[in-house]
Amino acid sequence: MMLNDSLSKVLYIDLTKKKFETKDRRDLFEKYLGGTGVATELLLEECPEGIDPFHPDAPIIFAVGPLTGVFPLASKTTAMFKSPHTGDLGESHAGGRSAIAIRMAGYGAIVIKGASELPLYLSIHDGKVQFKNATTLWGMKDGSIPARVMRQKEKGDGLRAIFRIGTAGENLVTYSNVTTETYRHFGRLGLGAVFGSKKLKGMVISGKKAIEVNDKKAYRVLYDHIYKAATESPVMKKYHDVGTAINIKALNFVKALPVKNLQFSSSESIEMVTGESIAQHHLARRVACAHCPVACIHLAFLREPYDDDPYFYKTSPVCYDFELIYSLGTMVGIDDPTNLLKLIDIVEQVGVDAMSMGVILAWMTEMYDRKKITIEDLDGIDIKWGDADAYIELVKRIVKPSTSFLKACARGVDYAANQYGGKEFAMQFGKNEMAGYHTGPAGYLGFLLGARHSHLDNGGYSIDQKDLVKIDLTPSQVVDKLLEEEAIRQILSSVAVCFFARGIYDLKLVSDAVKLLGFDFSDEQLLEMGKKIHLNKYKFKMREGFRFEKLDIPERIYETNDPTGKITKKFITEGINYAKSLID
Ligand code: SF4
Repeated sequence: MMLNDSLSKVLYIDLTKKKFETKDRRDLFEKYLGGTGVATELLLEECPEGIDPFHPDAPIIFAVGPLTGVFPLASKTTAMFKSPHTGDLGESHAGGRSAIAIRMAGYGAIVIKGASELPLYLSIHDGKVQFKNATTLWGMKDGSIPARVMRQKEKGDGLRAIFRIGTAGENLVTYSNVTTETYRHFGRLGLGAVFGSKKLKGMVISGKKAIEVNDKKAYRVLYDHIYKAATESPVMKKYHDVGTAINIKALNFVKALPVKNLQFSSSESIEMVTGESIAQHHLARRVACAHCPVACIHLAFLREPYDDDPYFYKTSPVCYDFELIYSLGTMVGIDDPTNLLKLIDIVEQVGVDAMSMGVILAWMTEMYDRKKITIEDLDGIDIKWGDADAYIELVKRIVKPSTSFLKACARGVDYAANQYGGKEFAMQFGKNEMAGYHTGPAGYLGFLLGARHSHLDNGGYSIDQKDLVKIDLTPSQVVDKLLEEEAIRQILSSVAVCFFARGIYDLKLVSDAVKLLGFDFSDEQLLEMGKKIHLNKYKFKMREGFRFEKLDIPERIYETNDPTGKITKKFITEGINYAKSLID
């Protein structure tokens, strides 16, 4: 890498001693570029084996990549931690201004350890870290208010990002998130709860550093090529116009959309909550992560009348996308857009992972329907499919649980189902609640085998849609494809590129791009690096107790129609056994 690139600087912060130091970790960046590759190494170094995720010594790691601030769509920050939700690898990515602010502040990674006695937030500017009292921000019902306070109190010059948790993180709900720039999230696997365990309410970071490239002419040519591809590609136009929400209609049509806890894979009443319909009737504006010409983030305006004046409305912007419409809409039987936006809004305010919350609400509804739990378990709330008001009350009570059942729900659907039954329809994979793709066996093998148990690890759903509906692949062929895709994605998340740009940033282009920052890796070498990073993640998972044979698979996936008709126990078991023989 280039000698004067501050990417190799890692900021180490100790919340207990209120101290910080910076170390040059060129060794890590020259080997793994940045982002996920470097963060995984730091996690293996800094996280003591077998530690409680809420122990002060459990680290939080943020890392960005060499392309951050240099090329379009290199917008992501990787967060790594031990997940309080699954007990093994915690990894989550967010955009907004998070990555560019860390890079411009002069760091490639930040490691946060220790815990404070009193709530605080970190203020990181001009090479200094200040530990600021956040006692008055702790416990505020709406997570956006502490962010507003931090925004007003902190320096605003340069590129600035604000990270914060809501009451869910403060109360250690294991699937709470960290929000950045109001509409972007480190959503999955409970980073918010790890913040909460350290009494860390948030972080503000800014900087104005410049980044040099070693060949300005070649840089301009490559930049223009990427920019053109991003602005002229039909896929990116789709993300800009309707966003990922465009997939609701398509998945519903092919019977791949989970409805009412996946009792069904399509619904006749989704017309008002398709991406097209919400865009037509409710879209207020689109916004973008820093340095992205696509602007795929869609905001709807939610209008709610005040109690005492029917002509006077409170108007709030609510961010929506495919995963939110699925998890807080079709999965719980909500087909009215205003009700959907109201539920999204409360989930946003308390700061939890929307996918996990939606899956848990759906499971609770089925448990209640089947009389496996009582109204007392639900603290007096009578729930039925599609009842947004009841779900809004339940979200508030799960975050501050008043019954043993709700307390169990604050630890995820796998934990709750182990205590109360209903495992056969508890829609989790590797203890992580499912994303909205009942597309076929590759999608489920993707959830089960992905290092984060996320649909984004390897995009198994697209193998179902592209390959399995047309041809017969064996389970081992599917797993080979998943592993290859996951290796490629390790490189994208190490240079910190948004996965929506994966059609633009192939390994050859990444190789050309990082060369301008002083890294010399061929596309073949990058692929090998991606495989190594993936195995490093599995090294951490295994160290912390993950075992393929312990994976619980809800029977429901075998019962509900899917577009391939190929989801069988035999297929899934063979796939897992083959992956185990390669990774274990
Ligand atoms: S495509 Fe969307 S998520 Fe990706 S960088 Fe652009 S605005 Fe952010």
